Amino acid sequence: MDPRPDGDDHLSERLALLPGRLERIGERMAAAAERAGRGVSEVQLLPVSKTVPMPLLERARELGVSEFGESRVQELLVKAAQVEEAAPRWVMIGPLQTNKARDLARVAHEIQTVDSAKVAQALQRRLEQADRRMTALLQVNTSGEEAKSGCAASEVEALLEATAACDRLEVRGLMTIATRGGDEAETRRCFAALREVRDRLSATSGVALPELSMGMSGDLELAIEEGATVIRVGSALFGARPPLV
Ligand SMILES: *Cc1c(COP(=O)(O)O)cnc(C)c1O
Repeated sequence: MDPRPDGDDHLSERLALLPGRLERIGERMAAAAERAGRGVSEVQLLPVSKTVPMPLLERARELGVSEFGESRVQELLVKAAQVEEAAPRWVMIGPLQTNKARDLARVAHEIQTVDSAKVAQALQRRLEQADRRMTALLQVNTSGEEAKSGCAASEVEALLEATAACDRLEVRGLMTIATRGGDEAETRRCFAALREVRDRLSATSGVALPELSMGMSGDLELAIEEGATVIRVGSALFGARPPLV
């Protein structure tokens, strides 16, 4: 499958808007960090490039972007194959089916959606075969929505133990997606829940889990206030995506 088509003919406009949008996100991040009494350098922007055509990724690279988040293995592979020199870091942020672990293990540098021992073990095996390593975040379902991937907060400890045996995955922290369409209080509750799970887990396991990936275009300020170290931003940077089909 090719990356989904742009769905519009506004590529030149999106290219022209990119520098200003990147700058604006930096300002939003700085303002939120300041409100929270944090340094803006504690928070990293992960640009999410799903559905975004290659010229925009190339422009982002020229503007200093060094990694991209993608939610589908196939799209990530197609794009990675088109960047030959000075490859960016490719970060998987969508659910992984184990039959795609082999493809992902060859190309991606990080996965933020490890939510079962099965996924971790499939990646471990394929990373061994490819003689590669990846950084990883464990995805936690803090919204309680059934359709969401991510393990339950009560299962994270067992998942962390299972991944400890997977030495090709370096677990750096946790990731969550807030309740879809939730109001500010609900969104904040999801982000605070992830931080609390992390605090509890690193206290009991003794494993440092420095990274908290949470917050997107619409709620990155709340995420930073609640302790995010990585925000995943797509539409505020690259423009609106075509509706999912
Ligand atoms: C698409 C996506 C994002 C980015 O969403 P925007 O609202 O466009 O910023 C962040 N995280 C995940 C897991 C996504 O799939």
